[in-house]
Amino acid sequence: MKRALLAWYDRAKRDMPWRRDVSPYRTWISEIMLQQTTVATVTPYFGRFLARFPDVKALADAPEEDVLKAWAGLGYYSRARNLRRAAQKIVAEHGGRFPDGFDAVLDLPGIGRYTAGAILSIAFGKPYPVLDGNVARVFSRLFAIEEDVKAAATVKALWARAEELLDRERPGDWNQALMELGATVCLPESPRCGDCPVARWCEAKKRGRQDELPVTPARREPVDLSWTCLWIERAGRVLLWKRGEDERFLRGHWSLPEARHLDSAPGPRLKTVRHTITHHRITVDVRRAEPPAVLPASAAWVERAALRERLVSSLWLKALA
Ligand code: SF4
Repeated sequence: MKRALLAWYDRAKRDMPWRRDVSPYRTWISEIMLQQTTVATVTPYFGRFLARFPDVKALADAPEEDVLKAWAGLGYYSRARNLRRAAQKIVAEHGGRFPDGFDAVLDLPGIGRYTAGAILSIAFGKPYPVLDGNVARVFSRLFAIEEDVKAAATVKALWARAEELLDRERPGDWNQALMELGATVCLPESPRCGDCPVARWCEAKKRGRQDELPVTPARREPVDLSWTCLWIERAGRVLLWKRGEDERFLRGHWSLPEARHLDSAPGPRLKTVRHTITHHRITVDVRRAEPPAVLPASAAWVERAALRERLVSSLWLKALA
């Protein structure tokens, strides 16, 4: 089974910029970008990000705002902030060279067991497994696992399978082959079993269970939230707010101030914007307001022409449109 999957991967793997010219830095950036984001979306961002921050040092030295700007549109901005913090840690603790020990990689901000395994196996050829949504789906079908794939006990068992099956000679290719199979053949809906290189070993296919597996928990119910944001303009400049680290959403982002941030009464409504973050559906009322008597430290006046430079989340781009 392993030989068949690796041979298929050698033939069928998709060309992606991070698969050419593999390095720990490139693999790391691509893996972080690919979390919750598709290959098609990531591809142009990857090229631009690498051109702007070609190595760990460049990323570590960059102002946070520049990194967030290069990330604008990819969402889940904590990923970008963690990348920069991790780069600073690599410079401070590893002399700017990406570490090659599992514990040291896992210790970097934003890197969990999956990402550490991906970087170490793909870029360093080290024998660490990966388990992401694609691999979990493939395993749940290959081995006809009928338990909820997100339950802690199942996740533990899946990691053990990943460890046991790992190809010790080609760990990076093996991990990528599993992920590639999940992304292109063993699809969430209607898996293409007729094109599958491991179909003859697949327990779900044997039992006709491939459309029922994996078993997943019920979807989270959407949560509706309302924000009132203030448009405060004076002499061609608009008052922006740097959101703190204690915010629930868009931490560390420049934004329009919310009414709760400032001592200024919301006036007439200018616009209503709808935006979704994970399962939260946020309705944002943008209202005109007057400048507060005292300007808090998190507030700053920004030229109207420079607003798009600061307000990088697509939520604010909708508000500005
Ligand atoms: Fe997935 Fe079908 Fe292949 Fe089984 S045979 S691993 S269900 S694509």
